[in-house]
Amino acid sequence: KKILFSGMQATGNLTLGNYLGALKNWVNLSDEYECFYSVVDMHSITVRQDPATLRKRARALLTLYIAAGLDPKKNCIYYQSHVSGHAELSWILNCFTYMGELNRMTQFKDKSAKHADNINAGLFTYPVLMAADILLYQADVVPVGIDQMQHLELTRDIAIRFNNLYGDVFTVPEAYIGKVGAKIMSLQEPCKKMSKSDENPNGSIYLMDDPDTIIRKCKRAVTDSEACVAYRDEQPGVKNLIDIYSACTGKTPSEVESEFEGKGYGDFKMAVGEAVVSILKPLQDRVKELEADKAYIDSIIKENAEKANYYAAKTLRKVQRKVGFPDRI
Ligand code: ATP
Ligand code: MG
Repeated sequence: KKILFSGMQATGNLTLGNYLGALKNWVNLSDEYECFYSVVDMHSITVRQDPATLRKRARALLTLYIAAGLDPKKNCIYYQSHVSGHAELSWILNCFTYMGELNRMTQFKDKSAKHADNINAGLFTYPVLMAADILLYQADVVPVGIDQMQHLELTRDIAIRFNNLYGDVFTVPEAYIGKVGAKIMSLQEPCKKMSKSDENPNGSIYLMDDPDTIIRKCKRAVTDSEACVAYRDEQPGVKNLIDIYSACTGKTPSEVESEFEGKGYGDFKMAVGEAVVSILKPLQDRVKELEADKAYIDSIIKENAEKANYYAAKTLRKVQRKVGFPDRI
């Protein structure tokens, strides 16, 4: 089986964008690949975190992976911080990555503008840690949203550079971008992606929002004065709602256009809200069930950390040898 790696940060509460752009695809891919799904808590501290909150969110995220349908016996679901190989490989890859490459990363530019008081070196080298995450497991595919494409390209460049120097050490990974939901936009600023670290809670639908909140946020979503449910770039708000509705119902954008032909935005937004509720409600119920079973989640955390460490160590030993670190005696 081919290998798949992906992860999410335990920063903020997960949004519908994370679900439709990433998690939902993961579930579909999990039969076909040998999968590693990480809660990338080491990435989270590139931005200041409250320790207790981070710990809680990391666990909630890991639980959510399982609630979304990832079988933790088949998929390796683990905390990045439980596998020291991520940090070790990241250091080595740092020495094979150029400042100029990192300077071009748009996420760094966005995030450093947002966190001007804390532009730390970790924020800058974040893409190198991401490369380490992926290359450590020799992943063939990496399902990500479009916002992560640039980082994935860099990962490929680093892998190719390393392979050219030392022989075939790393599998060069491919991105997997889902057909629908690849980029869900903010409900309030439809030219900006929906993001869990957005300050405006009305821009995002959180996976744990209750039905009333979901419906209210959809009703308040920014649209336009065209009064026509059409899938076109000139109507970014409506286009985004069509994307959301499509992803939740499996209908194509043109089917959605015909369904709402001659209808107002009020009806359309209500339908979008209901479609979102219908996919999130079962997910929320499952999260609650799982949260009640502490021993089960604990056992998953332990077993999967061991499994991840086993695979990580294999790659790491090979890399350490290649770069010239002395053998262990
Ligand atoms: P942050 O603002 O903390 O970076 P984020 O919402 O961007 O939060 P990440 O943890 O960086 O979340 O990304 C998790 C996954 O979700 C990635 O695969 C990313 O590509 C995907 N993703 C994030 N936002 C969206 C979105 N708006 N639409 C589709 N996919 C998304
Ligand atoms: Mg992000």
